[in-house]
Amino acid sequence: MVKRALRRILPGLADEPDPARRDLGPLADNEAYVPGHGDPSYAVRSYDLDLTLKLAGNHVQGRAELLIEPLVDPLPRLQLDLHGLKVTSVTVDGRPAKHSRRGDRLTVTPRQPLKGGQESLLVVHYSGNPSQVRGLDGLAGWEELDDGLIVASQPHGAPSWFPCNDRPDDKAAYRIAVTTDSGYRVVANGSLVETRRRSSRTTWVYEQPEPMATYLATVQVGRYDTLDLEPGPGPDGLVPIRLHYPAALTRQVAAGPMMRHRAMLNTFTEAFGPYPFARYDVVITPDVLEIPLEAQTLSIFGSNFARPGWQQERLIAHELAHQWFGNSLTLGQWRDIWLHEGFACWSEWLWSERSGGRRAADLAREHYRGLADKPQDLYLVDPTPQLMFDDRVYKRGGVLLQALREHVGDGAFFAFLRTWCERYRYGTITTPAFVAEAAADLGIAPDWFDPWLQHKTLPEWGS
Ligand SMILES: [Zn+2]
Repeated sequence: MVKRALRRILPGLADEPDPARRDLGPLADNEAYVPGHGDPSYAVRSYDLDLTLKLAGNHVQGRAELLIEPLVDPLPRLQLDLHGLKVTSVTVDGRPAKHSRRGDRLTVTPRQPLKGGQESLLVVHYSGNPSQVRGLDGLAGWEELDDGLIVASQPHGAPSWFPCNDRPDDKAAYRIAVTTDSGYRVVANGSLVETRRRSSRTTWVYEQPEPMATYLATVQVGRYDTLDLEPGPGPDGLVPIRLHYPAALTRQVAAGPMMRHRAMLNTFTEAFGPYPFARYDVVITPDVLEIPLEAQTLSIFGSNFARPGWQQERLIAHELAHQWFGNSLTLGQWRDIWLHEGFACWSEWLWSERSGGRRAADLAREHYRGLADKPQDLYLVDPTPQLMFDDRVYKRGGVLLQALREHVGDGAFFAFLRTWCERYRYGTITTPAFVAEAAADLGIAPDWFDPWLQHKTLPEWGS
């Protein structure tokens, strides 16, 4: 289906030269966006991470158990991504394995080649002082706060804290156990299944059974209080939502937009279908952060986002929408980032409309005019690594969705959104799949999308 769709949106461009239209040629793949990450010769089925963290000194001692499955036969060696940390031992199926290091790549050579399709258990012991990973779009990963820790890995920061096959299309189940000083709260992906306190240290164990991309794995540590939001009336009203925040922010949190999470979840459940995970957690750090960030089952905000105001509220809605668009449905190639950010951006406008604010149609037109005033020098698909998080990718993707909604009508549009979320739940998505399925389900020509996706110049819209 994907190959067929690719042909449909990549017509014979040479026959009809059009300077505004992209000569797509080969699109840039993940090697261009996150060079040197990931190994396609195997898949990881589960990660079991056990970290002992000394906050003073930012020191980690780690054990990572990876249940892997070779995708080639035989597999004589494989590569893991790990940044900076020292590897002390590697075993495969209980037997010591050779390992060597080159930059952030750890090559593991088992005693005997692994068989295709047959699961093996890889165990890596490692330690050191985790630090952010530099990529083409900046720094990402493990980062100390003044009093605590955040991990914000999109797109290339996962190797800052655990050995992994750092490819967004290699999704796996996770168990994350962190032992650190009592007095701090640890929040990680999924459900807290156990806490054990031993004198001055406490172990927190989280389980995330639904498949998750490496960049969405996270650990947050801080002196946090918690507040559980009341259940709601909607179909997913019983999904637990918990806020984690410093005591100093208690009043601000209780009076601010963070309290609207339940209503947002109801709105998005109606629009996109069931919430994809068992729960949602929100971490508000004592530090001011420039931008919030989504992880699977939780989002992270700086203290500056607890204040009232549309700019805060829209980003709270944005991060929640990523649980569907980005976390449950995840790109396989970073060039398709609009499938996350365009949808999350449009979801802000949907929340505005459904909560009695400005209509999505008006917000989309305002942003369309804003885009028209800015340089039109990027493509929505494959915007280049430097521009993958450019605001124009977000806004143009959002405007595309509103234009599609108005083109086909609300009934068909929302039915398709729910189908899209259901069909690719926990899976990997691509732009050609989106175009082909939207065109087929909505009865429109696939080339309706071309001016939005394949031209730099904005299409006429919105009068
Ligand atoms: Zn986003």
